[in-house]
Amino acid sequence: MLRSTRNTADRAAELVALLLDAPTVESVGEVIRAYGERGPGVPGLTGGDVAAMREAAARLREVFAAADLGEAAGLLNRILAGSARPPRLTTHDGAADWHLHADGEDDAPWAEWFLVSSAMALAMLLAEHRRVPGGICAAPGCDRPFADSSPGSPRRFCSSRCATRARVAGHRTRRAVRPAGPGERRETEAHPPGEPPEPVDVRGPRPRKTEDPRKTEDPGPPARDLLSGRYWD
Ligand SMILES: [Zn+2]
Repeated sequence: MLRSTRNTADRAAELVALLLDAPTVESVGEVIRAYGERGPGVPGLTGGDVAAMREAAARLREVFAAADLGEAAGLLNRILAGSARPPRLTTHDGAADWHLHADGEDDAPWAEWFLVSSAMALAMLLAEHRRVPGGICAAPGCDRPFADSSPGSPRRFCSSRCATRARVAGHRTRRAVRPAGPGERRETEAHPPGEPPEPVDVRGPRPRKTEDPRKTEDPGPPARDLLSGRYWD
């Protein structure tokens, strides 16, 4: 799996979460920059762009929330059929390394760039792992979309923090419902009081899976983003 595909899929999830919450030109630009743009600003991003990106985000959220592989594939195919153009390679007139775009042109509107690059990355994840390319966090009160680019069984939570929170909440519920049942004994044997719970369903190093990638480790070398290197790469 290409690092750039994971990066673009994670960026899609983060932008969907932000755009469907309370986005501003500044906050959206900040996320775009955090996922690879190196310059001081995101060129030309306006309030109108953000409004159009919200519509794209609503469609992409359906993909993260898809019940099964077939539904996710159908949603992605509809997005690609309606918005993607023949893939092309570009360097943005020498400003970036050669990379792939499937939006209409190098300076396509931000919403088109966001929708198409996200759909392409999610489609590649889906084909790579043959499952829904992400999900909606199962932790109580979270509801955040996440991309799932890991091998193995599907994730259920947006972050290790939510996985831990859900496990703690689950323990409390089980204690309240059946304090002396055999199930409870098994749980307490597996995780005695005082022992920190193991992370649930979050496997391997996931530097970009936290709520805010800017607060984690360095994003590494400039993203050679095959799908989305618009003004950056
Ligand atoms: Zn969560």
